[in-house]
Amino acid sequence: MITRMSSLFLRTLREDPADAEVPSHKLLVRAGYVRRVAPGGYSWLPLGLRVLRNVERVVREEMDAIGAQEIHFPALLPREPYEATDRWTEYGPNLFRLKDRKGADYLLGPTHEELFALTVKGEYSSYKDYPVTLYQVQTKYRDEARPRAGILRGREFVMKDSYSFDLTDEGLAESYRRHREAYIRIFDRLGLEYVIVSATSGAMGGSASEEFLAVTPTGEDTFVRSTESDYAANVEAVATPAPAEQDVEGKPAAQVHHTPGTPTIESLVDFLGAAGLGRSFTAADTLKNVLVKLAHPGQPEPELLAIGVPGDREVDFKRLEAAVAPAEVSMLDEADFARNPFLVKGYIGPGALQANGVRYLVDPRVVRGTAWVTGADKADHHVVDLVQGRDFTPDGVIDVAEVREGDPSPDGRGVLVAARGIEIGHIFQLGRKYADAFGLDALGPDGKPVRVTMGSYGVGVSRLVAVIAEQSHDERGLIWPRNVAPADVHVVVAGKDEALLAGGEKVAGELSSAGLRVLLDDRKASPGVKFADAELIGVPTILVVGRGLANGLVEVKDRRSGERVEVPVDEAVRHLL
Ligand code: ATP
Ligand code: MG
Ligand code: MG
Ligand code: MG
Repeated sequence: MITRMSSLFLRTLREDPADAEVPSHKLLVRAGYVRRVAPGGYSWLPLGLRVLRNVERVVREEMDAIGAQEIHFPALLPREPYEATDRWTEYGPNLFRLKDRKGADYLLGPTHEELFALTVKGEYSSYKDYPVTLYQVQTKYRDEARPRAGILRGREFVMKDSYSFDLTDEGLAESYRRHREAYIRIFDRLGLEYVIVSATSGAMGGSASEEFLAVTPTGEDTFVRSTESDYAANVEAVATPAPAEQDVEGKPAAQVHHTPGTPTIESLVDFLGAAGLGRSFTAADTLKNVLVKLAHPGQPEPELLAIGVPGDREVDFKRLEAAVAPAEVSMLDEADFARNPFLVKGYIGPGALQANGVRYLVDPRVVRGTAWVTGADKADHHVVDLVQGRDFTPDGVIDVAEVREGDPSPDGRGVLVAARGIEIGHIFQLGRKYADAFGLDALGPDGKPVRVTMGSYGVGVSRLVAVIAEQSHDERGLIWPRNVAPADVHVVVAGKDEALLAGGEKVAGELSSAGLRVLLDDRKASPGVKFADAELIGVPTILVVGRGLANGLVEVKDRRSGERVEVPVDEAVRHLL
């Protein structure tokens, strides 16, 4: 296929758009890929639409490869299903709500769990029907507070969302694993640098959830990763560093970890007061997982140590042991547990214990007294390495330090470095929350109903176009990886005379016949303008038809490395294949 720039619907810009801050936004607008229509709303022009379609193709191929079946829902949805799951209200101001002419409530879908659950309920009834995985590539709507950075955070954007339906927890784990691998293949094929961080979620039913973050300095998420292992974790530092004079020798600074989905448990605050421990935490603070009450020799107040991570991730035993060593771990009495339903006694024995539907791993070698297992009193967060007197005071305010670069990695390999990332994918084991809301059951072999368990998995398809641009550009313009580029080769006719133009047409024709997608700059513009546009547009290979043509030579330039070679014109095709 040949696309001639003389007639292509494209105008490049020399100046960065005034509202653009991040490179992908500037370049995608300047190179004529997208145009802004409203805050968080962009139109796709021909070159941009090609890249978007290429990303979609990669996503579809990998979804199809794991046996997911594509369907398509409307974006305009009735209120009722979202009412049934409470999301009509829970979603808050991010949800676009509207009314039809009869006054009935509608919304523009921000994500489609409800519809998929209802649809499977409508079609399937027997255990023999399962498992099944469905997906769509859909326009989503979210009234984002700060639509920024162009198509990185739109209010209308394209998402691939898929949903798995299984009858057993093992089945769900398998569906999750397959998606995880499909996502790795997708992001590898797109040539992205990314990390997979745990985002384990108590509120979603106590199972695994991970985010895929593309590494870029402009990202909104902060994470830490080890210099020597695969360890990576999403981190949100929400408070100022602890004052140095209150530091406790040998103890690492307390850290706030961001763990989406952590339930809010305000009653913990009251409980701590009632248990005589002072109002150590306020509802605005963070606390989670395993609480150990420690009495240090010579210290009047017992200390609360919060440790652990929810879900299937392991407690950091080394760190805990170091922290516990100088202290006596004291027991709470039965009444303490009776008074508060969120405290669970269950640390004895190796392995996991269950609390409020969340699985925690506790090592009895370390927890030598009573462990309290709690939730958090701030949604989505938990704290590790708390030290009383340093990180919090009996009357309330937690004052914690950021996760610091240079801290040892929790897996003991390497040290932590902080970096920023953009969420490109998110996989969740939802469990039975939506099946419960809609009574989604399969009739089992014994005639008894079995409740279905779900996973949900999202990829930010339109966001990926910007993320690739964010990771792959230079000061002159975009640099597309071949499999998403709007063309395979950009033929620049560097001059206005007829012989050059004819030469360009001929080479372009041959490349096209060989199956390459060709962008041919056959415009009357000067070579300087054409070269600048070619660099800006970012097709991975630029083929220049210029003065050398008289001697039967064309120049092939690699956009990324800048390397140039002269090749005989009749070998150009072979050179590029
Ligand atoms: P974020 O943390 O960036 O707000 P999210 O966690 O709200 O994303 P999910 O609900 O997990 O997003 O949706 C799945 C995927 O959709 C995300 O991983 C992201 O790639 C993409 N996505 C979410 N919101 C937007 C948006 N406003 N514009 C473009 N892509 C988005
Ligand atoms: Mg969001
Ligand atoms: Mg997110
Ligand atoms: Mg997410």
